[in-house]
Amino acid sequence: MSVDVVRCDVAIVGAGLAGINALFVASRYLSRDQTVVLIDRRKRSGGMWLDTYPYVRLHQPHRLFTAGNIKWTLGEDRPHLANRNEVLGHFEHCLDVIKRRVRVEEFFGWTVDSYDETDQIARITCRSDDARQMVIEADRLINADGYGVVPNSPLALSSSRVRSVSPDDWDMRGDAMRSSDAPIWVVGGGKTGMDTVDALIQEYPGRKVNLVAGSGTWFLNRDRCFPTGAQRWTSGRLATSITEEVAMRFDGTNESEVGDWWRTHWGTWSTPAPGSFNGASMSEGESHRIAAGLSEVAMDHVADVLDRDGATEILFRSGATRTIEPGSWIVNCTGYLFRDRPYEPYASRSGRVISIQPRSATFPLSSWMGFLTTHLLFADKIRDAHLYELDLVDLRQKSKAALWPAMMSLGQHNMSLVIDNVPTKALLDLGFDLDRWFPLPRRMVQTARFMIGHRRKREHHRRTLDTLRERFEVRCGPLPGHTS
Ligand SMILES: Cc1cc2nc3c(=O)[nH]c(=O)nc-3n(C[C@H](O)[C@H](O)[C@H](O)COP(=O)(O)OP(=O)(O)OC[C@H]3O[C@@H](n4cnc5c(N)ncnc54)[C@H](O)[C@@H]3O)c2cc1C
Repeated sequence: MSVDVVRCDVAIVGAGLAGINALFVASRYLSRDQTVVLIDRRKRSGGMWLDTYPYVRLHQPHRLFTAGNIKWTLGEDRPHLANRNEVLGHFEHCLDVIKRRVRVEEFFGWTVDSYDETDQIARITCRSDDARQMVIEADRLINADGYGVVPNSPLALSSSRVRSVSPDDWDMRGDAMRSSDAPIWVVGGGKTGMDTVDALIQEYPGRKVNLVAGSGTWFLNRDRCFPTGAQRWTSGRLATSITEEVAMRFDGTNESEVGDWWRTHWGTWSTPAPGSFNGASMSEGESHRIAAGLSEVAMDHVADVLDRDGATEILFRSGATRTIEPGSWIVNCTGYLFRDRPYEPYASRSGRVISIQPRSATFPLSSWMGFLTTHLLFADKIRDAHLYELDLVDLRQKSKAALWPAMMSLGQHNMSLVIDNVPTKALLDLGFDLDRWFPLPRRMVQTARFMIGHRRKREHHRRTLDTLRERFEVRCGPLPGHTS
């Protein structure tokens, strides 16, 4: 069988937020006659937003979710939380804007099976949905499969008397759910769980909606983090200032103390004693509505649902059980992020290939990784900047509590190195920087503070990250073969 060979200057795998940000940056360095090949196994751009549950909304104000500095065309007010279709429309718009600057060849419906590097070229082997094969030869490769979010399936449960569903492929507001009055058990207390509870209590007032919340999750308090109107000038605090304080408080050993401080000052929650954080935000109004609308909350994890001695019961991971009504709905809202996948360094030995994914994370969010590491790639500094990489998947398994403080330390440490290696004006395009919520004078003060102190503080962050590596035996440090 003949295999097509496509030649390009840059290949980007993944048209989610990470890939589109990488593409935005690439378009700043390439000329109009150079070509970027964009490959994604999905049918269009948008990544996980294409198949997540329909009532999802951005948890941050919409203008702060973008590629580079590309502006939204929605015409909504500043605090608007975009829905799924609006987010997907913005992805399309971003791609159109970028295509005015650089030639982009799109290969949607193509899956990358492997790649290697020989003779200063990256060779990427792909196959299409209809089993055609293709090899792409690129001077540079950006592997932006990012957080690799895939839809959740229903939980596999032993009971034949409950209906196990996932919000990703089951219409929670459809006829089947509407025509039943059986209780609903939402499993998972993160963003999907909260969005699902909120949608259900509004759609079916008076229905029994229960939550199995695991160790409980707290959220950034959106009202406090994004004050509106004139308060943008006087209250709230810039996101980089908060994350800097978290990272300065954290020394690699005191995650519970730092987590408590962060949650108390900037958090909101709907369940008792929330132990986890996953980076999402929620308003106080949502938080109170959810807490008031829930019939029952179990602070435990579902191990199975069993039919025993004529009864149906949830078996929790703790060993406790709870009898439930036959016919109950069990809704899988357990997490999507930080799934296992093979390790790959964030930059290859040649510095020609970069990889944006959580096993060698360089920043907390994949958008930041897509943007900043692509700048380093084109500046030929990707290896010499000596960024630290951190295996978020492994650290999360070993300590959920340390994960987010560690990500803040990583972000602060690596941002300091980026600033030393990339022209400052490149960073003016960081349209998804949450600080942009606030007026320019406030941002300028924060930037000046950061610039004055970042090298000195970098030493603290490095020690924190080194402590984490020793303590949890996780991959955390400069690329193999490099020392800091
Ligand atoms: C339910 C949910 C809600 C969220 N809400 C928010 C929010 O409100 N705000 C926010 O900032 N973040 C949110 N996030 C985090 C979110 O995941 C990121 O914002 C972002 O959209 C992820 O982008 P990504 O590019 O890292 O990954 P993805 O969106 O997963 O994109 C990766 C792309 O790579 C493609 N790909 C992977 N491997 C291959 C391969 N081998 N060949 C070809 N293509 C491949 C995939 O098909 C996919 O399109 C949310 C996450 C979840 C799960």
